[in-house]
Amino acid sequence: MGNVTRIVIIGGGPGGYEAALVAAQLGAEVTVVDTDGLGGSAVLTDCVPSKTLIATAEVMTTFDSSYEELGILVADDTPPVEQAARVIGVDLGKVNRRVKRLAIAQSHDITQSVTRAGVTVLRGRGRLGTGGQAVDGSREVLVDAPDGTVQSLHADAVLIATGAHPRELPDAQPDGERILTWTQVYDLEELPRELIVVGSGVTGAEFAGAYQALGSKVTLVSSRDRVLPGEDPDAAEVLEDVFRRRGMNVMGRSRAESVKRIGDRVEVMLADGKVIEGTHCLMAVGSVPNTSEMGLEEAGVKLNDWGQIQVDRVSRTTAPGVYAAGDCTGVFMLASVAAMQGRIAMYHALGDAVQPLNLKTVASNVFTDPEIATVGYTAADVECGKMDAVVVKLPLRGNPRAKMQGIRDGFVKLFCRPGTGIVVGGVVVAPRASELIHPISLAVDANLTVEQVASAFTVYPSVSGSTAEAARQLHIRKRVDGES
Ligand SMILES: Cc1cc2nc3c(=O)[nH]c(=O)nc-3n(C[C@H](O)[C@H](O)[C@H](O)COP(=O)(O)OP(=O)(O)OC[C@H]3O[C@@H](n4cnc5c(N)ncnc54)[C@H](O)[C@@H]3O)c2cc1C
Repeated sequence: MGNVTRIVIIGGGPGGYEAALVAAQLGAEVTVVDTDGLGGSAVLTDCVPSKTLIATAEVMTTFDSSYEELGILVADDTPPVEQAARVIGVDLGKVNRRVKRLAIAQSHDITQSVTRAGVTVLRGRGRLGTGGQAVDGSREVLVDAPDGTVQSLHADAVLIATGAHPRELPDAQPDGERILTWTQVYDLEELPRELIVVGSGVTGAEFAGAYQALGSKVTLVSSRDRVLPGEDPDAAEVLEDVFRRRGMNVMGRSRAESVKRIGDRVEVMLADGKVIEGTHCLMAVGSVPNTSEMGLEEAGVKLNDWGQIQVDRVSRTTAPGVYAAGDCTGVFMLASVAAMQGRIAMYHALGDAVQPLNLKTVASNVFTDPEIATVGYTAADVECGKMDAVVVKLPLRGNPRAKMQGIRDGFVKLFCRPGTGIVVGGVVVAPRASELIHPISLAVDANLTVEQVASAFTVYPSVSGSTAEAARQLHIRKRVDGES
């Protein structure tokens, strides 16, 4: 065992467990230390639970928004003009029990596959030892076990993948009953009657849309001009219109200062002095990296002003032999990126071929209804001159499959380089956009041209037909724009 590289991974979310699998495959001796269970927040509190809840919401919206047009009769054929008159309802306790069951099962499956790969899994809190790097380049990792004992491990390379937790405002302390973080909503037995969601980023928008679909009366408080300030502006506009049309109270340019619980109600005080009342408040105001009290700075690991670990494109921190991946680096808060960073760290540490992280090929999705999927360069990149690109946007209103399915909102947008026609980005706003973005993602990754995208067959009728049609339109546009 003399030449076997010892890897210790602190944090068992996608950044950590995916790295563990790669490192074990490459023949390293791997230990993963986690406080909560493998899968991390992604599986136990964030990604998996929210998307499971949204799966129920999606069925509700699809039915609610199209059953009349599609000619479906229900026993009590009252149109859902008002929430109270809805023809379908939800048992939130049952939904939440399913959510938690699936999350635990997923964590269990991950633990099984990681241990089957030969990885040692330790329950506890990991931190770097104070001794720094030993002469042989190794480092000590200390594990505080739940029973109070401390175990010392030695690693040739350490990966920090400790994730992040919900940010709390000093005057809006969650109580787990009425004032909630996104990790606490799954304990609710009954649907919040009037839910105020503070924060209109991806998490805020996803929960606001989901609870609206489940039957809550939702107010979305956004400190910015519009919802989803980080997303494609046309996509955000579509979503905001849909939200308002479905009866959501979307409050733009409204900064929440404090949240108070008064009996069974909550009051959200805004910066302009306005007070909004509801039965529950969900705080979605960002997250804080789990990087404190881990001996990081003492070991030479540089953190930025937000406490995130600085890494390069192969996941190296500023301390030799210490790598970092995932939300604790703040590079791109996605499970897929965390996993990629973790794998890259292990390829690098174990001397395998490494392709540095390329954020311009990351595909991401906002799981609202409609969904918003994005890949590559964005409208903002084009506007600020970072990328010279020609754009075509095709509303789904003209797509035959969308018409048949009663889909009115959404579009396909493609960006390509003028002259060469190489596809550099795209946005799909549609039901299941998360599935429709893949051909565009493939095109961006493989530097395909609009001609190549347009020449591949699509099924008739299909929503993806709009992607091919956008590529065909760009075939002409890119020449015109390339000449000018
Ligand atoms: C509501 C919500 C929904 C999301 N949905 C999606 C989605 O649909 N798709 C997507 O790609 N991304 C989604 N994300 C983002 C995604 O969850 C994160 O990007 C992902 O979890 C990051 O993975 P990670 O490995 O960095 O950290 P985590 O998943 O947070 O895992 C870190 C683990 O480390 C443990 N830990 C922390 N400190 C220590 C320590 N000192 N010692 C030992 N263990 C420690 C934690 O307990 C945790 O188990 C969502 C996020 C939120 C908030």
